[in-house]
Amino acid sequence: MLYSKLVEIYEALSANTKRLEKTKILADFLKDLHESDKEVLYLMLGQIYPEYSEKKIGVSHQLAIKALAKATATNEKEIVKEWKNIGDIGKVAEKLIKTKKQSTLDSHVLTTEKILNNLRKLPELEGKGSVEKKLSLIVELLTSASSLETKYLIRTLIEDLRIGIQDSTIKEALSQAFFDKDKEATKIIESALDKSNDLAVVFKIAKKGRLKELEKVSIEIGKPIKVMLAQKVKNIHEGFEALGKPVAIEYKYDGFRLLIHKKDDNVTLFTRRLENATKQFPEVVLYVKEYVKGDSFMLDAEIVGYDKKTKEYQPFQAISQRIKRKHDIEKLKNELPVEINVFDIVYYNGKSLINEPFEKRTAILKKIIKNHPYKIIAAKQIITKDEKKAEEFYKKALKDNQEGVMMKKLQAVYQPGKRVGHMLKIKPEERDLDLIIIGAEYGKGKRVGWLSSFILACYDNGKYLEIGKVGTGIKEKTEQGVSFDELTKKLKLYIIEEHGREVRIKPKLVVSVTYQEIQKSPTYSSGFALRFPRFTALRPDRNPSDIATLSEVKKDYEKQKRNWRYG
Ligand code: ATP
Repeated sequence: MLYSKLVEIYEALSANTKRLEKTKILADFLKDLHESDKEVLYLMLGQIYPEYSEKKIGVSHQLAIKALAKATATNEKEIVKEWKNIGDIGKVAEKLIKTKKQSTLDSHVLTTEKILNNLRKLPELEGKGSVEKKLSLIVELLTSASSLETKYLIRTLIEDLRIGIQDSTIKEALSQAFFDKDKEATKIIESALDKSNDLAVVFKIAKKGRLKELEKVSIEIGKPIKVMLAQKVKNIHEGFEALGKPVAIEYKYDGFRLLIHKKDDNVTLFTRRLENATKQFPEVVLYVKEYVKGDSFMLDAEIVGYDKKTKEYQPFQAISQRIKRKHDIEKLKNELPVEINVFDIVYYNGKSLINEPFEKRTAILKKIIKNHPYKIIAAKQIITKDEKKAEEFYKKALKDNQEGVMMKKLQAVYQPGKRVGHMLKIKPEERDLDLIIIGAEYGKGKRVGWLSSFILACYDNGKYLEIGKVGTGIKEKTEQGVSFDELTKKLKLYIIEEHGREVRIKPKLVVSVTYQEIQKSPTYSSGFALRFPRFTALRPDRNPSDIATLSEVKKDYEKQKRNWRYG
């Protein structure tokens, strides 16, 4: 397909801010799209492979600028200057090509196949000479692109397409294009997307109008799925009211989530961001091989750190550095040991269990795991009708340094990617939120050269809304915890605009923040501000879409008002 055709859609989507219009544009595009062009849909989302794939474009701003400089015979410094003026490197590219390439202007030769072909070579290139090779693959594309095409090519390279479509828009567009917006069909499409994480596969079946086949799209060992998430209730009583009796109650372990896949002798670990974390946790692989029976399975688990001397469970922050670590893995393994707490099973010996009731899944789990405390255990659980017993269990969980408890409905199925009302979490009232950094400011004095104040945002319908600034809780030195230097290095990769000391940052880095109080505030776009926010941890295991939503912030605000009123 000609890239110019896709670019037309990008332009139309960017120009229309209303969701219904965007859905219609997408639906029309999907209707016209030929099955053999289905991989264009990856590009449509700014990617080159399905969402679950680990192969990402991975081009830095610096490399993109280098390529643009080479393709347009412009000085790199000039490009950086323009970038600071305009703010969007895609627009800089568009402008440059317009002025430099008069003769071949808008030649319409670039195809989506060519783009996918070149971009897919990028993640394969490593080691000596790889930068040069990457550069020439990118330059080849840029030199045959029109100015408008260049804008989107550059944005694709730096993974910041700016066309504003959400997962929900895609699901609705598919339903509108092929099933007349039928509600049931929309649900089936959503479920197929959550299980496969592959838009092209779902599109192919939807285009044929085969709902039954879409229903059969299943989970597969080795392919990560989106996990099922919980809703919050205030106390045990509320939990029973929502779920009925009896219920399963389990410890809510304070660690991070891993989906553990095993087939024959291969164990693969995925985070809830669908990232492969197998290399980082060699002992987890070992324990699973040794202590879980079965030819193939997919387990849902929380990995918790403990103190190697006292054996006391540690809060999440203690082990968070293990998640992305590429070196010193053996050393970290010994210093920060972990225990696997398995709480669900979604696939067993060749069969998906997601449509089986929790009661059955948890029974299989208990049968196949040989508990070895401090290595691997089935999550501590009671099944009860008795509120008193449940309260006691909750207290014990807190005494054991865990976050609280989970209450689960025995008859409920596993719904990948959903925040469901049949799995509930209860934890003591504490004031913390997971938020995202969308801006920052360079420091002065001894913090010069570091980003030192960070703008936090919550999520609302595809948008990130500011809710405050944090600078407290971050350390001067790396040995003491997460430092300014570390945060600056991480965030620099995502800077999209600079104005003096202030920078705008692509929403990528999720952080946990505690605060004393939420106040109404006209200063920030969310309408709220956090009083005394304090940084507590980086959350490399969380997606930008997993952060606190505006409605959650509102709820917390309302709740705190009630608490004041009634003491
Ligand atoms: P939170 O910050 O409260 O952990 P979350 O958005 O990460 O919230 P939720 O699904 O809302 O995730 O809360 C449940 C989380 O608790 C799970 O994502 C999982 O990581 C963790 N967890 C710990 N123990 C259990 C358990 N026994 N059953 C289910 N989830 C558990």
